[in-house]
Amino acid sequence: MTTTHATNGNLMDGTGLARRLVQESADAAARILEQTGAAPCLATVLVGEDPASVTYVRMKQNRCAKAGIRSRHVALPASVSTAELVDTVAGLSADPDVHGILLQHPVGDHIDERAAFEAIAPEKDVDGVTMHSFAAMGFGLPGFVSCTPGGIMRLLDAYDVELRGRHAVVVGRSAILGKPVGMLLLGRDATVTYCHSRTKDLSAIVREADIVVAAVGRARLIDGDDIKPGAVVIDAGYNPGNVGDVDFDSARKRAGLITPVPGGVGPMTIAVLLEQTVRAAAAQSGLQAD
Ligand code: NAP
Repeated sequence: MTTTHATNGNLMDGTGLARRLVQESADAAARILEQTGAAPCLATVLVGEDPASVTYVRMKQNRCAKAGIRSRHVALPASVSTAELVDTVAGLSADPDVHGILLQHPVGDHIDERAAFEAIAPEKDVDGVTMHSFAAMGFGLPGFVSCTPGGIMRLLDAYDVELRGRHAVVVGRSAILGKPVGMLLLGRDATVTYCHSRTKDLSAIVREADIVVAAVGRARLIDGDDIKPGAVVIDAGYNPGNVGDVDFDSARKRAGLITPVPGGVGPMTIAVLLEQTVRAAAAQSGLQAD
């Protein structure tokens, strides 16, 4: 489903679009409850008590509750072993009452995070973190995508941004954000350049971009002077003080469209998580999500 969004100057309103997507998920969750007698259920797994992770998980549970999605929370001590965590996640994968699994990361340096992620059954990988999901995305096959890249693609589509043949510069190459968003853009026929910490002359490359995706985690790394006039600027960065990776004030003067921070990419991430959870529940119940 594609939701076209009204424009507000050159701002891309992630908050408003996410609200509409969450409402669509809530409607779909209500239909699933009506037809199966059980609401969709997202299991959240948290290791330790890192304050930021506690907040993220709580936010996701609250949004789930508002959308009629049940959550089941599993809190594990920071000292949990890889084997114990894998067992817990595998148990949720096998539990027919659970439709989606979110393992909040980071999980701690002593844990083999990849092993824990791989214990998530592909049909419950609503956060798009398994190798199965990543490969399906790479092959252009159906599956769950990493939520922030999925949210970015939704925003671009909602604002009717033409991707085919356009030069997209993705700054950042993490497995959950930069790399998959570049692959999704490539899958939509954009010409994609990846930049990272070893890239030489980042400014010169960004200046060539029709679409810039900033996914670094360095406050105001990208200056407005480097934005090609009319370019679309997606700022996924979130740094202390509610600041993105792009210098918003200078970039907004040149960008055709730009996401604010906060209120751009952030809310879209949770919206995609809820949507994928509902889709997982529908598929596991033998129903269509919409
Ligand atoms: P990450 O794993 O730390 O990756 C950062 C990437 O930026 C790496 O690929 C790194 O390059 C690159 N980089 C670092 N310094 C650079 C520089 N000076 N020039 C160019 N590239 C540079 O971070 P992440 O998890 O992808 O997150 C990135 C940002 O997005 C953070 O601010 C995070 O808070 C935010 N985020 C937001 C959401 C949301 O829902 N809105 C979700 C996830 C993340 P190397 O690979 O060479 O090290």
